[in-house]
Amino acid sequence: MSGTIKDRRRVKRARNGRRSAHLAQTREYNYVLQISEDERRILANYHALLAQGTAHFAQVYYNYLFDNPATADVLYAHERAGGHIGDLVRSHLAHLVDLLRAPSDEAWAERLDHIGEHHQEHGVRPVWMLGGYRLFLNHLQEIIAAESDIPLTDRDRLNAVLVKLVLRDFGMVSEAYWQYGADKLQQQRDGLREYRDRAEDLLDSIPQQLWSVDVSDNRMLYHSPGLARCLGDDLRAPIPCLSLILPEDQEKVLTAWQKALQGEVVEVEVRQQREGEDPHWHRFQFAPVANRRGRVLRIHALMEDIDAAHVARQRLQQRSTTDDITGLANRALWYDRLGTALANCRRHPGTRLAVMVLDINQFKMYNDTLGYPVGDDLLKQLAGRLQGLVRDTDTLARLDGDDFGIILPTVQGAGQAVERVANEVLACFEHPFTLQDRELCLSGALGIALYPEHGEDAYNLLSHADSALQRAKRSGAPWLFYEATVDINPGEQMQFSGQLHHALERGEFELHYQPQIDIGSGRICGAEALLRWQHPQEGLVLPRRFIPLAEQLGMGTPITQWVLVTALQQCKRWGAAGIHMPVAINVSARAFQGTGLVDKVRSALEEAQVDGACLEIEITEETLMADLAQGAEVLRALHELGVAVAIDDFGTGYSSLAYLRHLPIHTLKIDRTFLSGMVNSDQDLAIVRSIIDLGHHLGCKVVAEGVEDAAAWDLLQTLGCDAGQGYHISRPLPHQGFTHWLSDGAWSL
Ligand code: C2E
Ligand code: MG
Ligand code: MG
Repeated sequence: MSGTIKDRRRVKRARNGRRSAHLAQTREYNYVLQISEDERRILANYHALLAQGTAHFAQVYYNYLFDNPATADVLYAHERAGGHIGDLVRSHLAHLVDLLRAPSDEAWAERLDHIGEHHQEHGVRPVWMLGGYRLFLNHLQEIIAAESDIPLTDRDRLNAVLVKLVLRDFGMVSEAYWQYGADKLQQQRDGLREYRDRAEDLLDSIPQQLWSVDVSDNRMLYHSPGLARCLGDDLRAPIPCLSLILPEDQEKVLTAWQKALQGEVVEVEVRQQREGEDPHWHRFQFAPVANRRGRVLRIHALMEDIDAAHVARQRLQQRSTTDDITGLANRALWYDRLGTALANCRRHPGTRLAVMVLDINQFKMYNDTLGYPVGDDLLKQLAGRLQGLVRDTDTLARLDGDDFGIILPTVQGAGQAVERVANEVLACFEHPFTLQDRELCLSGALGIALYPEHGEDAYNLLSHADSALQRAKRSGAPWLFYEATVDINPGEQMQFSGQLHHALERGEFELHYQPQIDIGSGRICGAEALLRWQHPQEGLVLPRRFIPLAEQLGMGTPITQWVLVTALQQCKRWGAAGIHMPVAINVSARAFQGTGLVDKVRSALEEAQVDGACLEIEITEETLMADLAQGAEVLRALHELGVAVAIDDFGTGYSSLAYLRHLPIHTLKIDRTFLSGMVNSDQDLAIVRSIIDLGHHLGCKVVAEGVEDAAAWDLLQTLGCDAGQGYHISRPLPHQGFTHWLSDGAWSL
């Protein structure tokens, strides 16, 4: 609004200026043409006479205007723009006739201004007006010549003054015409200058610097004022600040420029460094301008110092990807890296990766008793130790609570490398942690999942590594690989917990039997009953996938009862068929420690009419050690019934050897993990050897589990192991299959 008022004032000022100039000009013309008062008077005397033929002249004038294409075009254009031709011509005539009145200089000056503007706007060039004056002068001279009343002395003076007036008018109208044009141009130029100044002000006040380059000759077409201020006047196109860009980043900018030359709008962030300053991040944008055929003519370039924003963004990114306590990657970044590593594996078939989840045993207890700051300190210390052993290409993260995740993005060979890393990770716990001036000895457990065999996507791999971790914690193993047949994931857990309750009543459980062979004689000396769940949808489910859950759901005791009865009934049936086959059953911790096991065993034996010596009960070291006093009582009661007791998975738990010596234990079963390593690892072989020696020293029979090949079998024989069980002899079989296997006679009874 204020702009409009200002504009109007400026127009008014300009007009006033022009009028006074016209007045001076009129006087100048009067002086040059020597128009005297006397001549004005003569003109006034004959005015009425000269004005008589105006109507006739109007007709002549009309013809003239319409006969000439240039003037006719002006008239038609006036009409098209909404004007009236008659009015326009009449105003011209009035102007000519007014000449005869010899108006005052002021009135004349005012009208000239208006005519100049008018003619400029309509494109009536002075040459056409000259034609009009010629016709008018002819017309007047004809009147004077024909009028005999005009004395001879006046005729010449009248003619002379008319010529002077026409010349004056033509001269002044022409000047006004050009003057108006020049004023208009000046006005436009002023407007442009003002516009340019404002644009420069604006460009000067923004933090970005701009420049534009003609790509045909790499010429700088424009640059914003700030660019010269920060780079000096010698601005070299196309990228004036190239020498300030760090050498390692220059390629990026040049590539971006090449892309812009191909018609692409490109953005790139690089570092610039001035002498004596730190490098600053700058953003460049190159926007090409192309012709209709797509040929790039110019490139508009923008440069902006984004150092502060870059630092803030990095900080933000760091916060959103870093764990506050340990400074390690957080879960989000870990997942992200896992996604990238998986994508890489998919691109290179045959590549494998490993996902590990580490958990600190009993962390919650330390956290709750010593307080969260101490817990945090512990996490920090562990993070520091772990960081020292992972490679640059591995990703170590704190996933949650006391869970740490490790990605090994490429795994060579059959997994020994992963096992080595797992052992190294757990070796982090070998030295005590110092917390609040006290030393704490901690342990950890690891679950491992491999791509592609244990899962194809990030979620599955993590969830499977976690399942393996849970199993490792339950079994006391330091680390375990995921095993599809035994690990249960959270989804399955939910599904199974609803279904387990009905499994017993629906008769979905069954027992498979795995033979045990006396190594010395090569004879079958018994069978271990192993539980299976015939799941309506999943098919045969192995015990490690549901037993821990069943235990949690309080079903350990009824299941043990079912196993006990079923195994003894089978033993009875075999006995009836003339097959003496002692059976071993596995008893869970709760069922063993709970009341009534001995009574149940007694009544099951009675019901099946089977001798106590036909039954062996397998318990783990943890089961026994959980409550040694009560455990010892149960063992003695079972012993009285003639029932043997075996310590299962021996070597993986922590049994007190001092107590073992005083307890009626008949069998030690060497855990199969030692068996699998025994042939190649001296360490495993040493463990197997010492368990056998220990067992014999305690007066126990030693059974090796998981004998998978003849080499292990032979070695066990050499070591003096009493019995063996494993796939080398037979897999666990349903009772019919077991009976068939017996009748095949590969091993004799
Ligand atoms: P376990 O008592 O140590 O049983 C031996 C496991 O080793 C069995 O797994 C058997 O199939 C497997 N095995 C035998 N020979 C070999 C071999 O040569 N190589 C390999 N790789 N494995 C072999 P299964 O049947 O999956 O049972 C796993 C565990 O589930 C058992 O370990 C036992 O702790 C538990 N379990 C099985 N049945 C019952 C049950 O009725 N009650 C309870 N509470 N636990 C049971
Ligand atoms: Mg067992
Ligand atoms: Mg075992």
